[in-house]
Amino acid sequence: MADNREYDIVIIGGGPAGLAAGLYGARGRRKTVLIEKGVVGGQIALTELVENYPGIPQVNGFDLAQTMLQQAESYGMETEYTEVRSLAQRDGKWLVETEAGDFLAKAVILTAGAEYNKLGVPGEERLTGKGVSYCATCDAAFFKDQEAVVVGGGDAAVEEGLFTTRYVSKATLVHRRDELRASAILQERAFADPKLTFAWNTVVTEIVGDEQVQSVRLKNVATGEETSMDVSAVFIFIGQHPNTDFLGELVPKDPGGHIVVDEWMATPLPGLYAAGDVRQNSARQVASSVGDGVTAAIAADHYVSAKFHESAGQKAETAATG
Ligand SMILES: Cc1cc2nc3c(=O)[nH]c(=O)nc-3n(C[C@H](O)[C@H](O)[C@H](O)COP(=O)(O)OP(=O)(O)OC[C@H]3O[C@@H](n4cnc5c(N)ncnc54)[C@H](O)[C@@H]3O)c2cc1C
Repeated sequence: MADNREYDIVIIGGGPAGLAAGLYGARGRRKTVLIEKGVVGGQIALTELVENYPGIPQVNGFDLAQTMLQQAESYGMETEYTEVRSLAQRDGKWLVETEAGDFLAKAVILTAGAEYNKLGVPGEERLTGKGVSYCATCDAAFFKDQEAVVVGGGDAAVEEGLFTTRYVSKATLVHRRDELRASAILQERAFADPKLTFAWNTVVTEIVGDEQVQSVRLKNVATGEETSMDVSAVFIFIGQHPNTDFLGELVPKDPGGHIVVDEWMATPLPGLYAAGDVRQNSARQVASSVGDGVTAAIAADHYVSAKFHESAGQKAETAATG
């Protein structure tokens, strides 16, 4: 392995959590690289408008991510565009295997994020960000006094459905079964909400619209009857899967595959941290992911100092003075 592939901190995933970790790692004078397999910004890169990042009233998601990237790179964070395939402990450090070769790290921060399960129906992909959403907390406010459909029957669907009715005039919760899976307390609240109605035994077969969602096609799976409903938004909550498959059994995960961490974002393995949507109990927001990334980078910095007896900037100063 070439010497220049050795880093203090390797960050896996270039969403908000990874970019924040990169800023703190590099600004803390740790040799830091961020590895991203796709587009820097992660989920937020696909978001037209972010209105709930404190201090910035309105910003395009891609622009926000590019600003974060430039800020981190201005302090020396390096960026590699390749996919991480696996991670393993190697002589007290971490070996990060990618499609573009191996990296060796004193500490690794996992910020690989998550992907929302899709319905897989016509119109869904094309109208994502144009009425199709996987986050009511993020997007419900854009549909004030309009009508929406919420898809799903678990806790997330009901919680987000209840959030949706703070803004929309009416929401129809579409569920493929004849009863909810959500907890009893959430069900009670849902049934008591006058703005929330239910379409049981029903699936969405198509999302229709040109520039924005205009309606959904529905099918009753019990009777076979097909109908259409005019709505401006479709909120989909049929599960989420964190990008943790490449880790195999390396780290403890919850039943949903999210990485279990402590309050410092530390996994039980030395020098391995997880931040943002990839971790258990994440709030799944840009601001919370950024906070997680910062916490993980500070913890990783302390770990490198303690384990390798190396204060931040020591290497840089040694090199500068010869
Ligand atoms: C449509 C949409 C709209 C949203 N709107 C808002 C909003 O308005 N406000 C808000 O606060 N939140 C919003 N969210 C939620 C927010 O985007 C996420 O909570 C946040 O992006 C999570 O950040 P993250 O860094 O943890 O993960 P992600 O953003 O998921 O980024 C993870 C990155 O890791 C990369 N990666 C994964 N596996 C690998 C690998 N093996 N090797 C290399 N790279 C890898 C991925 O390509 C990705 O770029 C929205 C989400 C969606 C989907």
